Amino acid sequence: MSDIQAVMTRVTRTEMVGEHLVRVSVAGAELRTLPWGKSGPGPRADAYFKVVIPAPGHDHVRVDTSDLSRWRQEFLSRPETERGWIRTYTLRDARVVTTAQGEVPEMDLDVVVHEDEVHGGLGPGARWGSELAPADTVQLLVPSATGNWWACWDEHRAGNNRVVFAGDETALPAAAAIVDCVDQSISLGSDSVPGTGAPQTLHVAVEVPSHGDATLPAGPAALSRGVMTNGDIRVTLRSGTELTWTWLDRGESATRNELLESWVGRQLKGPAATARHAASSTVEEREEDTGDFVWATADAAGHGPYWFLAAESSAVKSLRRLCVSHGVPKTDISFMGYWKRGRATE
Ligand SMILES: Cc1cc2nc3c(=O)[nH]c(=O)nc-3n(C[C@H](O)[C@H](O)[C@H](O)COP(=O)(O)OP(=O)(O)OC[C@H]3O[C@@H](n4cnc5c(N)ncnc54)[C@H](O)[C@@H]3O)c2cc1C
Repeated sequence: MSDIQAVMTRVTRTEMVGEHLVRVSVAGAELRTLPWGKSGPGPRADAYFKVVIPAPGHDHVRVDTSDLSRWRQEFLSRPETERGWIRTYTLRDARVVTTAQGEVPEMDLDVVVHEDEVHGGLGPGARWGSELAPADTVQLLVPSATGNWWACWDEHRAGNNRVVFAGDETALPAAAAIVDCVDQSISLGSDSVPGTGAPQTLHVAVEVPSHGDATLPAGPAALSRGVMTNGDIRVTLRSGTELTWTWLDRGESATRNELLESWVGRQLKGPAATARHAASSTVEEREEDTGDFVWATADAAGHGPYWFLAAESSAVKSLRRLCVSHGVPKTDISFMGYWKRGRATE
């Protein structure tokens, strides 16, 4: 049986939760077949899925999940104007709602409405997200009931440890969902994992395009209980984790990743950094850079502070280089290029 499935859902509502962020909620009986486990629909750390976006004027394509690589090759060989696009989004949150189909899962995805800085206009995913309306159908590629969530967050690695998360606006849904999971003690696995403690501290910074993106609904639920201290929001999560959340607003004055680099630099001098000999500042890039994505996860058996970096590809490479140049072992760093400047990405 295939561990990936194509499910059809309907938009229940859309809402701007930030100046450049639209929340799309979709529901449907087919979502029951996701690996929710005993805890049922809810956030699942940084779990992501794919959206199959139809080309304008065309119906949804039929996805053959029994032979996905052949299907994908055929899909990619056709013109975009016929086949449409596949894009990746994070499961921001989920719950059970009552619809005409009875009680069904409803999932939220937060779509960044971004310009294509190189070619102009909106990317297909950004355009799709901003044009959706209630009752529109949405086709998703998701893990099947017996499969695992597709995710990078390692709750064992984060447990009882200091965690630093640095991300851009595309990683905001992941950052918020991870905090929600820690706050609600929801395990990424289908059921609770014995022996996995909550992180001791969780320092999160998210760089967003404008002040209008640093909103309460866009962040994790716990922010509403937080106290503002020196520009950071601090709150003790119900799991006991001390959360420090920092919005970094690029606005007109900062270039992409500039504020995130400075923030990571400050973390490297703070308690999250352990005393180590500074490593060489020349960090060779390993095979993770496929020319398309950079992607690597921290060593599950590691013990030091856990660094989680998710943003544009060259930005995460630069952040990782900074960490390594300050002595953070590569094996303590998970880093994910969520998109690549000037390139369309699935
Ligand atoms: C695991 C994972 C989870 C993700 N979760 C989310 C999520 O929850 N929400 C979300 O919005 N995105 C998320 N992304 C990123 C999203 O998949 C990409 O941004 C995607 O490229 C958007 O598709 P598009 O059709 O809008 O743009 P594309 O067709 O891919 O790109 C068109 C142009 O726009 C540029 N571009 C792409 N994304 C951005 C951006 N964010 N800002 C500025 N320029 C951009 C590209 O460089 C290119 O020049 C995630 C990616 C991964 C890998």
